[in-house]
Amino acid sequence: MATPAVASIHDISLPKFCKTGGAISVRDVSSPESIVSKWLSSFESTLSSGKVSELPSLIHEDGWWRDQLAVDWEFHTKRGLKNITDLLDGRLSKVGFRNLKAHETGQFAPKKETPIEDLEWVETMFSFETKVGTGKGMVRLVCLPNGIWKAHMIYTALQELHSAKEIAGYHRPHGGNNSLKGGTIEGNWYERRERQKEFLDEQPTVLIVGAGQSGLNLGARLQSLGLSVLIVDKNERVGDNWRHRYRTLVTHDPVQYTHMAFMKFPDNWPLFTPKDKLADWFEIYASAMELNIWLRSTIKTAEFSDETGMWSVEVTRGDGSTRSMKPSHVVFCTGHAGEPRVPSFPGQDSFTGSVYHGSQHKDATFQGDVAGKKVVVVGTGNSGHDVAQNYYENGAEVTMLQRAGTYVISAKTGLFMLHEGLYDEGGPPTDDADIFGQSLPIPVQFALNVDGTKRIAQAEKESLDGLRKIGFKIDFGHDGSGIYRKYVTRGGGYYIDVGASQLLIDGKIKLEQSPDGIKGFSEKSLILADGRELEADVVVLATGFDSMNTTLRKAMGDKIADRCKEVWDLDDEGEINAVSTNPLYWMMLLLINCVDVATFWPPQTVVHGWQSGIMPYLLEVPGAPDQGTRRGPGGMIDW
Ligand SMILES: Cc1cc2nc3c(=O)[nH]c(=O)nc-3n(C[C@H](O)[C@H](O)[C@H](O)COP(=O)(O)OP(=O)(O)OC[C@H]3O[C@@H](n4cnc5c(N)ncnc54)[C@H](O)[C@@H]3O)c2cc1C
Repeated sequence: MATPAVASIHDISLPKFCKTGGAISVRDVSSPESIVSKWLSSFESTLSSGKVSELPSLIHEDGWWRDQLAVDWEFHTKRGLKNITDLLDGRLSKVGFRNLKAHETGQFAPKKETPIEDLEWVETMFSFETKVGTGKGMVRLVCLPNGIWKAHMIYTALQELHSAKEIAGYHRPHGGNNSLKGGTIEGNWYERRERQKEFLDEQPTVLIVGAGQSGLNLGARLQSLGLSVLIVDKNERVGDNWRHRYRTLVTHDPVQYTHMAFMKFPDNWPLFTPKDKLADWFEIYASAMELNIWLRSTIKTAEFSDETGMWSVEVTRGDGSTRSMKPSHVVFCTGHAGEPRVPSFPGQDSFTGSVYHGSQHKDATFQGDVAGKKVVVVGTGNSGHDVAQNYYENGAEVTMLQRAGTYVISAKTGLFMLHEGLYDEGGPPTDDADIFGQSLPIPVQFALNVDGTKRIAQAEKESLDGLRKIGFKIDFGHDGSGIYRKYVTRGGGYYIDVGASQLLIDGKIKLEQSPDGIKGFSEKSLILADGRELEADVVVLATGFDSMNTTLRKAMGDKIADRCKEVWDLDDEGEINAVSTNPLYWMMLLLINCVDVATFWPPQTVVHGWQSGIMPYLLEVPGAPDQGTRRGPGGMIDW
C-alpha cells in the first residue's frame, strides 16, 4: 500500500534517456571522460561569457539546476531551461564561474550510470571557482537522438570563501607560546581559554542555542572561520540530550553517515553507536574543538532590531545569573523535532494505570517489575516499536495500537541498501558523499526512491509478508517512495526495524488496529473509537513530536516565532521548507552529516550550516566579500 496519491507539485515523471528511447548507445559512452570534458569546457565558456542565450545548447529543455550558495545566497532548485535562465540572467558575470574540472579518479570520475531502467546518463563530480570562493558540483548528461549531449541535472555548491579560509590544515593555529598575541604574559593557552569560555573580553558574534550534534558541528565550523561563538544548552552536561534517552537506544544510522566536522569517529568505532557512548563523544568533541558552551543556560529574552540588525539577548545561566549580549546571529539547533505531541483523552483522569508520552520513556524497569503487566503502546513509529520491544523484553504483555499505515525498513538489510556504496566501509570521502547525496533535486530523489523502495521491499519480502499476515498496515509512502519522502514531508511514519517486527510476527507483541483512533479511558482500559476496550496498566503515547517551531516559540516568544515560517516539507521550488527564501532563515539538523541547521538570522546576514562539505556561510566572516553580496530587505539578493 502506498499513501493515497494526493497530487503534489513535486510528483514528477522521470524522463527516458536510453538507447531504446532513441538516445544513448554503448558506443556513445565508450569514453565518458571525453563527453564530460567537451561539455564542461563549453559550459565554462558560456558561464564565463555570461551569455545565458547559449544555455539551450548545453542544458536540456526539462533540465534541473540545484544550487547551494554558488549562484546567490539562497538554496535553489530550478526546473526547466526558462527558470534556470531566469535565475542566471544578469548574474553570471558577477558570479564568475571558472576552472570547472571533472574529477579524474575515484567513484565520482565520469561514468555511465543507469539509475533506473530506461534512464541512462553520464555523470561526474566537478570542482569550480567563483569570484568569491570554491566549490563542487555534479552534472548528469543525457544524449539526445541527434547525438548531442546536454545536462539534465546540474548541481553547484559553494564550499569555501577565498577570503576566509578555515583555520585548519595548512592554516591550522601554530599553538606555540610565541604565536599567542601579547605572549604568555597575557595568558597561556589554558588561561586564555578560561577567559574565552566566559566571554570576559568580547561578545559572541554568533549565539547558538542547543549543544547537540548540530550546535557542536556548527560551532566548530564557525569558530574555524575565526568567529566568536557561544553555545548555550539547558542540559547539565554536553551529551545529556542522548544520555537522557531510553536505556537501550542505539543509533539507527551507521557510523559513516554520522561523522562530525574535523574529527571523524575512530576506525574502531562501532557501526551503530550506543547512546551513552555518543554522549561521551560529544563531550570529548566539545573540548577538543575548544567550543564555548554555557550549560544549564537558556534564553530569557530576545529582541531583534530591524534598524541596527542586531539581537539583544538575555541568557539565564545555571547559577541563576543573567548575562546580556548583542550577537549578530542567533542559530537554533534545538533538534529536528519540537515539543512532544501529547494528546489527552476523555476519562484519562479516572484511569488507574500510568499514562505517559514516549519521550519520557527511560526503560521498562523504571516502572518497577513489569512482568505480566499489560502495556498498550499507542503509535507504530520508531519510538512506539522500541518502547514495545523494551517492555516485552522485561516480561510485560504488550499490545501496539496502529491507526494508519507505517513504513518498515530493517536495520540489517534495507538500511544498508539505502547507504550502499556511499556511506559504507570503503565508501568515498564523506565530503564527496555529501555532495553526491545532495546533488539530485529533492523531487528527483523522491521519484528515484520509488524504485529503490521496491528493491528494498523485495529483499525484505518475508518480514513484510509476515507483518501483513498479522494485519499490520504497511505504507510505502507517497507514490511508494519510502522513507526519505516520509521523513522530509512529515518527519515520521516509519519504523527502522531493530527486532520488534519479528516479535509482532511471532505474536509476542500483539497488534490492534484502530483506524478511527481512541475514544477515551475507563478506570482499567483504553477505549477505542469502535468501543473495544484494551485493558492496561501502562499506556505509552508514542504519538510523536510537533515541528521545531514549537521549541522556538517557547524559547524566543511569539514576536520572533511569528516571523518564522513553518519548517519541513518542500517549498514550491523543491527545497526543504525554510532552507529557501525567508526573512528569518531556518534549517534543521540531524545526527547524520547531510543535514541542515535550524538557523535564523537578521535579513542582511546569512548563515548556512550544511553538510560537511558546504560552508557554514556567514557574510560577516572576517574578510568575506560584502560588496553587493548582502541580503537586502525582504530577503532579496542584491548582487
Ligand atoms: C529515540 C531517538 C533515536 C534517534 N536515532 C537517530 C539516529 O539513529 N540517527 C539520526 O540521524 N537521528 C536519530 N534521531 C534523531 C536525532 O535525535 C537527531 O538527528 C539529532 O539528535 C539532532 O541533533 P540536534 O543537535 O539537531 O538536536 P538534539 O540532539 O535534539 O539537541 C538539541 C539540544 O538543544 C537543547 N535545547 C533545546 N531547547 C533549548 C532551549 N530552549 N535552551 C537551551 N537549550 C535547548 C537540548 O538540551 C539539546 O541538547 C533519534 C531521535 C530519537 C528521539
